[in-house]
Amino acid sequence: MASGKLIVLTGPSGVGKGTLVRALLARRPELYLSVSATTRSPREGEIEGKDYYFLNKSAFETMIEQNQLLEWAEYAGNYYGTPLTKVEEKINQGLMVLLEIEVIGATAIKKSFPDALRIFVLPPSLEELEHRLRSRKTDAEAAILSRLERAKEELKVSEEFDKRIVNDDLEVALQELETTIFSN
Ligand code: 5GP
Repeated sequence: MASGKLIVLTGPSGVGKGTLVRALLARRPELYLSVSATTRSPREGEIEGKDYYFLNKSAFETMIEQNQLLEWAEYAGNYYGTPLTKVEEKINQGLMVLLEIEVIGATAIKKSFPDALRIFVLPPSLEELEHRLRSRKTDAEAAILSRLERAKEELKVSEEFDKRIVNDDLEVALQELETTIFSN
């Protein structure tokens, strides 16, 4: 059977993972982006089954108990996780599957999927990260501060990843990401 590849993109919240992923998918529609489950409430414009599967806490905990998640983590007071079945199905079909997840989950994947290509996206600086978190205006002040604190911890483990990309200029970072994924 054809065997695909798992690509994990991680980095602190606000670093631009989402923007990079959207731009990459526009260039490379053959990539399959995994849709995560979360207990966080939908933001304006987010669509069930497209942006996330929005679950309540007990439904999410059932998924954990029944081993239905490839990885999961708690982030800023909510659960986030990758449903396993779809990822396995797409990889078995020979597709390249992309996960866009936070750092603890991305670290855990090294054990369950040692062959995954794990990429860490870095901000040019912590000051720039704070600026980006504030300017996207999606989170309350407390959530921004909590995300910044978490980012400081997350940046400490970036060297454990297969590849590190600084997202300063979006086009440069995108090019580096594409080359990393498609030249391996
Ligand atoms: P947001 O609430 O801004 O959509 O996401 C918060 C963080 O959770 C982001 O860093 C995002 O990449 C991460 N995230 C989204 N889905 C998953 C997932 O399935 N697993 C893990 N571990 N993190 C996720």
